[in-house]
Amino acid sequence: MSKIALAVHGGAGTIARELMTPEREKAYRDALELALKRGHAILKDGGAALDAVEAAVRALEDSPHFNAGRGAVFNADGQHEMDASLMNGSDLRAGAVAGVQNVKNPITLARRVMDKSSHVLISGMGAFEFAHKQRIELEDDLYFFDQFRYDQWKETQGTDVYQLDHSDKERKFGTVGAAALDAHGHLAAATSTGGMTNKKWQRIGDSPIIGAGTYANDATCAVSCTGHGESFIRAVAAHDVHALMAYKGLTLAEAVRVVVHEKLPPLEGDGGLIAVDRSGNIVLDFNCSGMYRGHVDVDGMLHTAIFR
Ligand code: ASP
Repeated sequence: MSKIALAVHGGAGTIARELMTPEREKAYRDALELALKRGHAILKDGGAALDAVEAAVRALEDSPHFNAGRGAVFNADGQHEMDASLMNGSDLRAGAVAGVQNVKNPITLARRVMDKSSHVLISGMGAFEFAHKQRIELEDDLYFFDQFRYDQWKETQGTDVYQLDHSDKERKFGTVGAAALDAHGHLAAATSTGGMTNKKWQRIGDSPIIGAGTYANDATCAVSCTGHGESFIRAVAAHDVHALMAYKGLTLAEAVRVVVHEKLPPLEGDGGLIAVDRSGNIVLDFNCSGMYRGHVDVDGMLHTAIFR
């Protein structure tokens, strides 16, 4: 039996301390803790890392505080188009969805793509049809309505401005994700997002792209990213952490540092990532002012943090 490990994130970015009231901070931390508890309960019982990351991400998708599932941002048409992916480190199987609407938990749809289809990534109406066939839980538009997100969108509606999940003084990426190591030594990672406010042309970010926003390989690590998606795609960020470990022999912490602080910044890749390696080491790192994040330590204690 190997040691178990779990980390989650709820997005990174410029998070203004002055806008963070104690109530708001508590709401974020509670949501991160709930996600950790859901995932950790599975790992503690000897369950699979893949099930743990799905459960943790579902909990974050159900929270209105993050830009995924229920709290997904509005696109240019005033709708919610969500992206999600997950990957299983033991056999490199993966599933992903892009631009899906009205799906309560896009991560579970991604899991179904992995388990019940012969594809890795499906999108738009086709993904919706597949969701319907798979009897995936759907919700009407009202479920995804949030006044704060709506106001964010209204500020940019009709312009060419895409906004990351932000308010006046903030520029943050509310994507959610999880990475886990289970007692059998298997790794998995999952990521889910609503993308960018006012996005058009069915823009897709890094979150549903295996290797960019999500990657897991039992030989090295499991990674879930959050940040400026276009840059993370160009940096193939999640896979690069794996590659630095596999080909260069770097430790998890070194590999993450190189990607987050050396490779992403020249590409304007603001953001961060969470990663877990095959020995149970956990790294949560970012190159901006904060990242909503949490992990469970070896003694089963939950830790959450927002700022550096
Ligand atoms: N990476 C996501 C995207 O570009 C955004 C985020 O992390 O919040 O779609």
